[in-house]
Order: sequence, then C-alpha cells, then structure tokens
Amino acid sequence: MKPQNHCMNKAARLEKVAIEIEKCEVCKVGKSGKAVSGEGNPDADIIFVGEAPGRQEAESGRPFIGRSGQLLRKLIRGSGLKEENVFITSPVKYLPDKGTPTPADIVHGKTHLDQQLKIIEPKFVVLLGNVAARGVLGEKIAITQMHGKTIERDGSRYYFTFHPAAGLRFPPIKKLIEEDFKKLKNLV
Ligand code: URA
Repeated sequence: MKPQNHCMNKAARLEKVAIEIEKCEVCKVGKSGKAVSGEGNPDADIIFVGEAPGRQEAESGRPFIGRSGQLLRKLIRGSGLKEENVFITSPVKYLPDKGTPTPADIVHGKTHLDQQLKIIEPKFVVLLGNVAARGVLGEKIAITQMHGKTIERDGSRYYFTFHPAAGLRFPPIKKLIEEDFKKLKNLV
C-alpha cells in the first residue's frame, strides 16, 4: 500500500477536479442532472471507465448505481476485488439528453478523465465498451475483438471488456463479460 499522506493528497486533488466538473459549462451542453465525477479509492490500483451517467446516476451524483451499475459492482466483487479498493468513473460526466454521448462530449470529457487518471495513477485501467476505449485511448477499438485482452500504452496497462449495459441486453455478452472479469484478479 502506498503511504497514507500520498493518498490524502490524491483525495484533495480529486475533489478539486470534481468541483471543476460541477462548474464546467462545456460539460453541461446537451445534458442534465447532477455532475457524476466518479467515486472510489483515490489510491486505487484499478479504475473502471464506463460511458456516461444514466438517469439514476444523474439524480444522485454517484456513478454506476442503476441496473448496469449493480451488475458492474457484482462483477467487481465476484472477481475478488473490493469495491472500496477501486475507482469507478466515466468519460462523460453528465446525463446526455439523447442518452448517447456525442463525439464532442467524449473528447471534452477526456480532459477531466485524464486529470483523474493522472492523479490516481492506477496500475490498470478497465475500459468498459467502445465509448470508454475511444474516450481514453482516443482511437476506435473493436471491443468484440479486444475484450479480455490487455494492451500497454505510454507505461499504462489497459484491459477491455463490454459495457455492463450490453450484458444486460444480450445474455451471450454477459457470459463474455463474466469470463473477462474472472481473468482480472490475476492480472492486477
Ligand atoms: N453507465 C455508465 O457508463 N456510467 C455510469 O455512471 C452509469 C451507467
């Protein structure tokens, strides 16, 4: 475990980013609800990145608390990780009016997400679906081909799987996500 004061420092820096997100007028274009900046351990070794908040997240300000969030949190626990040891966030920080974020939303959200990643310095970034992969890596990734695989970029490791919402819609994808999560614990 890294030293405690380092962790406190990270918490304060993350809080500063969360306040910036709350005040960010660019983030709010075409979106509504509370800011959902992310939550978890500021000293996490592993961070999970989704897409954009849904209605329940926008009402509460907490990420992944709706149906796909419940599945994600169950998968995290099932893989042997503890929820309190990870960090959960999304590239887009507000609920998009049209449900799906635009490419501009993703590009702008990346500015905040990059700051969070820089502060947390996780050993491992789990990208949940195409939007997360594009939002973080800035390139189009075919999740159907890359899920369950790890890549290294600029000294950071990224692992791909589907967004849990896809698992809820399509049972065969849920099976693939479960297999991907089983591999996680040994990789971190
Ligand atoms: N889906 C996401 O990608 N993020 C959330 O916070 C909730 C659902």
